[in-house]
Amino acid sequence: MRRFFSMLLTALLLFSLTACGSAPAPGSSGPSQPEEQPSAEAGQETPAQPEPYTILDPTVMPEGGSRDGVTYAAYDGVVEHLFFHPVVAYPELAFDGDYKSDGIDDWMVTAGEYLKILESVYEKGYILVDINDCWSEQTGEDGQVRMVKNTLYLPEGKQPLILSYDDVNYYEYMLENGFTYKLILGEDGRLWSWGLDPEGNEVTSRDLDAVTILDKFVEEHPDFSPFGAKGCLSLTGYEGVLGYRTQTDKDNWTAEREANRQKEIEAVKPIIAELKRTGWTFGSHTWGHISLNTRTYETVTADMQKWFDEVGSLVGETQVLFYPFGGRLDGDDVQQTGPAFQWMQQQGFRIFCSVGIDSWSKCKSDISAVICDRLHPDGTTLRSAKGRERYMKFYDAKDILDLSVRPQREVGWQS
Ligand SMILES: [Zn+2]
Repeated sequence: MRRFFSMLLTALLLFSLTACGSAPAPGSSGPSQPEEQPSAEAGQETPAQPEPYTILDPTVMPEGGSRDGVTYAAYDGVVEHLFFHPVVAYPELAFDGDYKSDGIDDWMVTAGEYLKILESVYEKGYILVDINDCWSEQTGEDGQVRMVKNTLYLPEGKQPLILSYDDVNYYEYMLENGFTYKLILGEDGRLWSWGLDPEGNEVTSRDLDAVTILDKFVEEHPDFSPFGAKGCLSLTGYEGVLGYRTQTDKDNWTAEREANRQKEIEAVKPIIAELKRTGWTFGSHTWGHISLNTRTYETVTADMQKWFDEVGSLVGETQVLFYPFGGRLDGDDVQQTGPAFQWMQQQGFRIFCSVGIDSWSKCKSDISAVICDRLHPDGTTLRSAKGRERYMKFYDAKDILDLSVRPQREVGWQS
């Protein structure tokens, strides 16, 4: 069942992630409260010193059982896990009726919908935790090392939530389809998105990109992230990372292209450092966004070597692998531990994430690894009656789905 679902998802995503186009039409219902980026003082050349940022360990009970007047309690229940793709900044470009429109409608949410989802999960008592804090390696009585689920110490009554974000690469096709172009460091030392609006004007904003919207939300609601956690960014490598073209290309590689690549590498380093400092972590989504369930062992290992060379070298070590298209390693990682899975584990991966209908997870018994599913707030689940039911603990799709900007397609829970 689960496997069938991920194969279906594979087929659908393959279909959706292959192209582009554009044609603006006004009438966006983007997020409110635009924020002006402060301009630099005359003569000021280096960015302002950013605010200090504290990251705490949720596996340790605060001394005396409370912190900042809040009582903490042990939590051993389910850790919910939602994942997003980049969010649509300009629906009039995304949903312009070209052949990408339906794919974006299926697999993405708009910036406005995303903010509403954050508001809803916050109001329902979820708090953010880092995926890396939810499990750890332990040696059992039999001498075997395995991943085990950690007890978390949370503000009493709160529920833990992992957020992850796939394909935070700012692919070429996205640039002309209503997404932001890249993350940049503002003169205030904070992260902003940069891009072009439908009229072609440059826009620097914190209200149009999934990363900066969450940053801002946590600034305004610090109790949404009592440990400082944000989300885990799942990166491929074939079109660079975070909007910077840090990739190699086997065709026509020239000294000039290499020089440009080095410039992009230098430019993205402070962005990565600031993300890490402010609670964001990184995971691998393979270099080429390849289907791990169907590709050969040789293809998988060669692709991942490229990921380590071009992406891992920038973001550092990670233990989290996000399956492209949800495709499980060796075609099945639930019943078996195949050769590609074992190889990935030897490279340091411990948390293997697919996609499913709930936040299911399983610590494997034969190898130190945990496999898990993530839920996917997007057009497919927002539009479906079953989806609306399943996601009700997070939000009511009826309050989120913005039909004023999305294509006129079927909504299962209407009528
Ligand atoms: Zn992906």
